[in-house]
Amino acid sequence: MAEPTAPPELVLALLSLLPPLRFVARTNLTKLNTLREFEPLVLRALAQARPVAGSKKPQIQQIAEAIAGFDRAPDAKRRAALLNVIRILSEIVSLPHEVTSVVSQGALPIASTRPELSKLPKLSNSQIEPAPPAPNPPAKASPNAAAQNAAVRDPLLTPVALLKGVGPAISQRLQLKGFETVGDLLLNLPRRYEDRRHPKTIAEAPLGERSMIAATVIKANEARGRKRRLEVRFRDDAGDTLLALWFHFRFDLFKKFVPGARVLLGGEVKAGFRGGGKTMTHPDVEMLTSGAEQIPLGEQLGKGADDSFGGIVPIYSEIEGVPPRSYRRIVRRALDEFAPALRDLLPAAMLARRNLLSLRESISETHFPDTFSEEAAKGRSPGEPRRRLAFEELFLVQLGLALKRRGTRIEPGIAFRATDESIARITSALPWPLTSAQKRSVQQIAKDMRSPEPMNRLLQGDVGSGKTAVALSAARLAIEDGYQAALMAPTEILAEQHHRLLAAMLKGTGVHVELLTGSLGAKERNFAERVVRTGTAHLVVGTHALAEEATQFHRLGLVIIDEQHRFGVLTRQRLMTKGARPDTLVMTATPIPRTLALTLYGDLDVSVLDELPPGRTPIATKVFKDAQRDKAYEVVRRELAAGHQAYVVLPLVEESEKLVELKAATIERDRLAAEVFHGVPIGLVHGRQSSEERAAAMERFRSGKDKILVATTVIEVGVDVPNASVMMIEHAERFGLSQLHQLRGRVGRGAAKSYCLLITGASGAEFGASAKQRMKVMEDTTDGFKISEADLELRGPGEFLGTRQSGIPDFAVAELARDQKILAEAREEAFALIELDPTLSLAQHQELRRHLHERWRGRLSLARVG
Ligand code: ADP
Ligand code: MG
Repeated sequence: MAEPTAPPELVLALLSLLPPLRFVARTNLTKLNTLREFEPLVLRALAQARPVAGSKKPQIQQIAEAIAGFDRAPDAKRRAALLNVIRILSEIVSLPHEVTSVVSQGALPIASTRPELSKLPKLSNSQIEPAPPAPNPPAKASPNAAAQNAAVRDPLLTPVALLKGVGPAISQRLQLKGFETVGDLLLNLPRRYEDRRHPKTIAEAPLGERSMIAATVIKANEARGRKRRLEVRFRDDAGDTLLALWFHFRFDLFKKFVPGARVLLGGEVKAGFRGGGKTMTHPDVEMLTSGAEQIPLGEQLGKGADDSFGGIVPIYSEIEGVPPRSYRRIVRRALDEFAPALRDLLPAAMLARRNLLSLRESISETHFPDTFSEEAAKGRSPGEPRRRLAFEELFLVQLGLALKRRGTRIEPGIAFRATDESIARITSALPWPLTSAQKRSVQQIAKDMRSPEPMNRLLQGDVGSGKTAVALSAARLAIEDGYQAALMAPTEILAEQHHRLLAAMLKGTGVHVELLTGSLGAKERNFAERVVRTGTAHLVVGTHALAEEATQFHRLGLVIIDEQHRFGVLTRQRLMTKGARPDTLVMTATPIPRTLALTLYGDLDVSVLDELPPGRTPIATKVFKDAQRDKAYEVVRRELAAGHQAYVVLPLVEESEKLVELKAATIERDRLAAEVFHGVPIGLVHGRQSSEERAAAMERFRSGKDKILVATTVIEVGVDVPNASVMMIEHAERFGLSQLHQLRGRVGRGAAKSYCLLITGASGAEFGASAKQRMKVMEDTTDGFKISEADLELRGPGEFLGTRQSGIPDFAVAELARDQKILAEAREEAFALIELDPTLSLAQHQELRRHLHERWRGRLSLARVG
């Protein structure tokens, strides 16, 4: 037949009408009163259809007229209206016979059937009933219809409640956990896998591990002690018994455990209380027989018979009130019905080039891995699907960064002169020759500063590598051109110290350095603000007070941020907007592994100070158990006797425990003075002091009046006392690696050999394997780069920089420490794609464009500063 076929997007737009129409047809127009909210459903479909209706616009209009008033109309009117709707609809698209037959019975003329709609997959019954907005089956994307398709409802947005087997109770519990749509279910990936191919006997099942056991019910009873519970005793073929316990259960479950019933149990096997045999709590259960008659095990365990047994089984995060088996069944159903709707964001050519599976394949395989997947059998996610999913996650982040980077290139910033002559003059004014790493960094920065494109550079260097001198050189280059430079530090102590050192180094140069922090008195603060505003101050050093509204710059040209990860993204952004597209240099002493730097700062250029200034002495690090602390004190005494000084560091505590911290620090100082170091002057710095008190304490230590400084981690950054040769860290197991490394960097700055003493397990504190590993890393190396790699591995990227501040995207699949190679590939692809299609306007990039907008909503402008 030569009938014109409706375009696919029109078919898709109208598809949501099909389920209610099928329902109407199947019930032979007898249940019209149960159709609720049908009118708005039709109107929504028509609204989607209109833009793609082309020559069929009149029919769309006719349907709209036919349906008007439907929801309020009596049955007879409803009937007439429906028949009308079906008739007109059948002129536009082909309807299943089941539906059109209603009209022929109603003796109305009907257009001949066309193929499209009836060919589309059937929707399950549960999707029709009282007709809430129904799902569309998978959309088939035609490349040039991408834009129109975006207007069609995404099948993945189908509410979970519409899935077969999901009743109101389960759907509510899923929603409580944030699973609103089928897409949410499909993208909630298993945490791990369990190999349930081979049942074990009770004797074989190791304690503390998950196993699957086939056994027979001996007896079930409901125990009513303090807590109601279900106890079921099982016996396996070898004659051993096992007790299974449920603390939450329905009566149904109880009823199932008829003595003699054969059952498969999956769960962790534990030792019973009072030495009595093995137990399982809340195991997954598969009934093999209901009573006496037996079904051969093999028949029950065929793959696919059940997704909870007989294969490699996905284990998801628990959802209260949704048994794991039910959850698996729901996921299986969602996959069966909706996996085809998982469209690839990644262009097909890229998938082919990088040898990546389709999204559909990788999602399916991740939920229900092939029984032969080696990785899954060991409990890990299957490799190829995982690689595909990690690639996509990393790719999207990199694409955002690539776009962002391109954006910053378009609008010009300041082009400083930064001549070789200036660089030579400025650096030779420093008290010592620069290390070659410092020289290289200054050159890289100067090059960025000369370009009109705003600099966005990360200066990364281990503690003590001399970042301040590099920052100062950059600041002076900006100041020479009549601009102001701002240096923002995370703590008052650090800002004060920077100010003091910079002022000393700038003596006689005519450069005015001003300090601006929150703890200045009102008069001083006013003064500081004024000199910054009028431009009298050339270099402004301060804390986040610099970013506050009251602080106005005269002509801010360079922003330097020290210890960048300690600031929120917004603070950095706010400071930058105080100038007109100023150059930005962010510095970090936490050597960020390359993997992470790329992910976080894909749009940042990086300079590395990989060389310490000469004359540093090695630091010997040793871990002492609490019981051996006398030996540690001996080391301190020896150093004091040689005329050196010592730090004793106590861990910083929670904000809510600040008073406790103060008390603990004071008590420890008094204890050391009274019991350990008689007659030695001991100072104290902590977070509750005013800045004057703190400055006074620091000054007493710096000048050598105090020999020992007891400190909470406020000294972590920025203290420079070369005569201090030993640091003792209490509760070392509570510190992260990077933090320990930074603390340790406070010694070893003078000519003497230095020591770092880590005291662990004080007050009987237990600590885990990861803490032990951290201690070992500290003993083994002083290389900041190695330490941060180890830190990243031990803690994961979120904790590594402090999740909320770091702006590290949360990855569901990708693991930065492990996926370095995938990241590099994803980055290459992302940057190449933006090079090719800078505005993402090519047809094959539409899906990507839409997704990116959603994902980075409002965040793209912040990506620039990390
Ligand atoms: P960080 O990178 O940790 O901020 P600093 O800038 O505080 O390091 O420098 C650490 C110490 O090294 C300071 O005492 C500084 O004076 C000194 N220093 C910096 N550069 C050099 C150099 N090229 N030669 C000698 N000493 C230097
Ligand atoms: Mg520094």
